[in-house]
Amino acid sequence: MSEKVVIGLEVHCQLTSLKTKLFCSCPSNYRGREPNTLVCPTCLGLPGSLPVLNQKALEYGLMVALALNCKIPKRTMFFRKNYFYPDMAKNFQISMFDRAGGAPLGYDGYVTLAVGGTQKLVRIRRVHLEEDPGRLVYPGTIDTAPYTLVDYNRHGVALVEVVTEPDFESPKEARAFLQKLRSILEHLGVFDGGLEGAMRCDANISIAGGARVEVKNIGSFKDVERALTFEIMRQKQLLAKKVAVVRETRHWDGERRITVSLRTKEEEYDYRYFPEPDLVPVEITEEMLDQIKARLPELPDARQKRFVSQYGLPGYDAMVLTSDKALADFFEKAVAAYGKPKVVSNWLMSDVLRCLNEYNLEIWESKLTPEHLVEMLKLIDEGVISGKIAKNILWDMVSSGKSPKQIVEERGLTRIADEEYLRKLVDEVFKENPKAVEDALSDEKAIHFLVGQLMKKTRGRADPQLANKIIREKLASK
Ligand SMILES: [Zn+2]
Repeated sequence: MSEKVVIGLEVHCQLTSLKTKLFCSCPSNYRGREPNTLVCPTCLGLPGSLPVLNQKALEYGLMVALALNCKIPKRTMFFRKNYFYPDMAKNFQISMFDRAGGAPLGYDGYVTLAVGGTQKLVRIRRVHLEEDPGRLVYPGTIDTAPYTLVDYNRHGVALVEVVTEPDFESPKEARAFLQKLRSILEHLGVFDGGLEGAMRCDANISIAGGARVEVKNIGSFKDVERALTFEIMRQKQLLAKKVAVVRETRHWDGERRITVSLRTKEEEYDYRYFPEPDLVPVEITEEMLDQIKARLPELPDARQKRFVSQYGLPGYDAMVLTSDKALADFFEKAVAAYGKPKVVSNWLMSDVLRCLNEYNLEIWESKLTPEHLVEMLKLIDEGVISGKIAKNILWDMVSSGKSPKQIVEERGLTRIADEEYLRKLVDEVFKENPKAVEDALSDEKAIHFLVGQLMKKTRGRADPQLANKIIREKLASK
């Protein structure tokens, strides 16, 4: 059975580089702070308070819209999205709306994605600015918690919401998109995806034209693949039993790794959008856009092309490396210190990524530094360690942050290229294996056996070429 899966995403990204919230001067970095201490009458929506638009947030929002190849309206305004829920102190969220005279900050954009060797175009329906709700903390799980704690420090933090068309056909594609989006936002310098909760996502999923299910509260792009895979499985099982999938909103429980039903279509909210009377409409002039365009930094697509032209990398390598800003930066730092871009790229793309994947770490979370990778490559070049041993110590470098020299020393892994010492060991090997020595005079296989014995004695550290040379010489002199 291969029912067609259709997925669309709504991604909320905090503009974490902003110092203050979207409509007031409270600090926007709430992480690790005492709950409900970064609040003021405006973000709490107390009577008499007035919001003022953070100009930097508008500028960042426009940068995002431009980077996602969106069209930009000449004029937009904010709306009140009304709903009653404890995460909103004022019972409405100030957001943007694409009807009733409103316009999103950007619309009809696209992002290119590399999927299975081909390029895929993902259409961006809209990009808009809105305020983040407060943080609700459920003791236990959302459907069993006896009470809820609320922290308004996050309330009013600037979010950019990116809505795609339903263009994804698999959880993998959705994840790849989030990764690309994150890379774009990080290149813009407006966002740090490493912060917990900085990127959150809702997904719409339907199978073969069936009812659309919305999954909310997917906290990271690592989770998006899990949540979507679970939901597709759930819907396929229902279809197999000939049970109709109902249109509903479900909640992703990252702890239990399942989705649970929150509300069905009958319970959907009517948000009663109306223009926010306390904020003036926003005029977006050509001049303003030109200034922002002129300041846009190099973005992942351009960087990918540059990696091909400047470093001579294959397109695929360049694509993988630039899909993560931290990885691309790591690569460029290592190449600046070492040269040989293809060698650096090979190590990153194979052993380093495999190792990170195994530890479930991203490169910036790991203790591996470009300096240590370069040191390791130089140890190989100098013949101090073999490539095989390098692959081995890499794991230690990633997890412990120790320098390769230190690991090699501690574990006594240096390659033995001391000819005199090796000759002594070869003498021992010959004494211990008289039959093999006899055979070796006429049989190549027996020579390999003797080399193997020498390797065993040195725990793989004998220089293989030298070992071969010594053994052959000794045989020839017999
Ligand atoms: Zn405030």
